[in-house]
Amino acid sequence: MIRLYDTMARKKRPFEPADPKRITMYVCGPTVYGRAHIGNARPAVVFDTLARLIRHDFGEQSLVYARNVTDVDDKIIAAAEAEGVEPAVITERYERHYIEDMGALGVAPPTIAPHATAEIGPMIAMIERLIGLGNAYEADSHVLFHVPSDPDYGALSRRDRDAMVAGARVEVAPYKRDPADFVLWKPSGEGVIGWDSPWGRGRPGWHVECSAMIRAHLGETIDIHGGGLDLIFPHHENEIAQSRCAHGGAPLARYWVHNGFVDMGAEKMSKSLGNIITPAELLAQGHRGETLRLALLSAHYRQPLSWTETAAAQAKTMLDRLYRAAGDADPGRVDDGVINALADDLNTPLALTRLMAIEDPGAVKASAALLGLLQHHSESWFQGGADTGDVEARIAKRAEAKARRDFAEADGIREELAADGIILEDGPEGTTWRRS
Ligand SMILES: [Zn+2]
Repeated sequence: MIRLYDTMARKKRPFEPADPKRITMYVCGPTVYGRAHIGNARPAVVFDTLARLIRHDFGEQSLVYARNVTDVDDKIIAAAEAEGVEPAVITERYERHYIEDMGALGVAPPTIAPHATAEIGPMIAMIERLIGLGNAYEADSHVLFHVPSDPDYGALSRRDRDAMVAGARVEVAPYKRDPADFVLWKPSGEGVIGWDSPWGRGRPGWHVECSAMIRAHLGETIDIHGGGLDLIFPHHENEIAQSRCAHGGAPLARYWVHNGFVDMGAEKMSKSLGNIITPAELLAQGHRGETLRLALLSAHYRQPLSWTETAAAQAKTMLDRLYRAAGDADPGRVDDGVINALADDLNTPLALTRLMAIEDPGAVKASAALLGLLQHHSESWFQGGADTGDVEARIAKRAEAKARRDFAEADGIREELAADGIILEDGPEGTTWRRS
């Protein structure tokens, strides 16, 4: 029995999906205007691990995991203007990098990856519905959600109204009926990306993107909604308000799961503070993707994680020991200690401690796979040089091509790797590789 800490309930609850044959999980994905840093990688790795656990417990086909791609946003527009290119040039480049970087960390592609620019219709439909119900209004070419129209607003973050207004860093806008009201639709000026709508040419706000895509792909109420702690307010609070009001009070998610930050020294790693380090930089320094993954899993997902060279070095030492312990064994039975640790609110530090204590090589291999570790042959792990990150990135690109059924591209990547002396083997736990 899996237990998860539910931010809404402020306690651990047994995980009981509405339909164990179709479990639904949505995680807010990247805004693709720059390279992901290791802090951005944490939710990708955490929810990939949770997906592995759910599939182990409920069956390989039990989970529909959606992670969106925000490909229209003011930061994207600014980045495109700075380079003098179309926004699509920016978004395609950084989405490709994101897939490669996360793939190198052993993150499997989600079941579906809806793109905001491809889902404008469902967003407009949801906004129209909210206007019709009296939860939203048009003003000065914008559409805003009227926060006082939702008496339950604030249930997730449990903030009082003054703290919410202050925390939302609301722009001073004369057209707002209430300072807490947030944008569902905003106008696009000449030469700025936009779509025709009943309120003129414009583009959606960020929050409505997730609500509309969840409704379109997963349903009105999903089992798990995930993301970083920083999304609780205002983003998830706003998603909840939009969805619940549009869907006659049906809750958006049955479990809210949030991961903590990655810190650099005493500060949160963030682009605006300029203290970021990216998986791409770490791979270029010679770290292996699996080392970075294990380092990210070395702290409990709800706790802050300090990123240090020591953490990465310790992860590498642990992996060397695990690869030695597993040898060339085929995966055997998954160890109960590892399963029980993961089932207790994804306690990865305890799972890793248990994993290090297993003696049977087959059990080491099978149990590590549940954490997305030991995905290589032992031999290739110990031979791995600085180009290993590149091989892993290309394998991730191939997995992504297969996921969108572009088999020509997937085969092309396999052939390129073969030409470089890399042999791929596809198995139920993903793709492993070795040098020929
Ligand atoms: Zn979201």
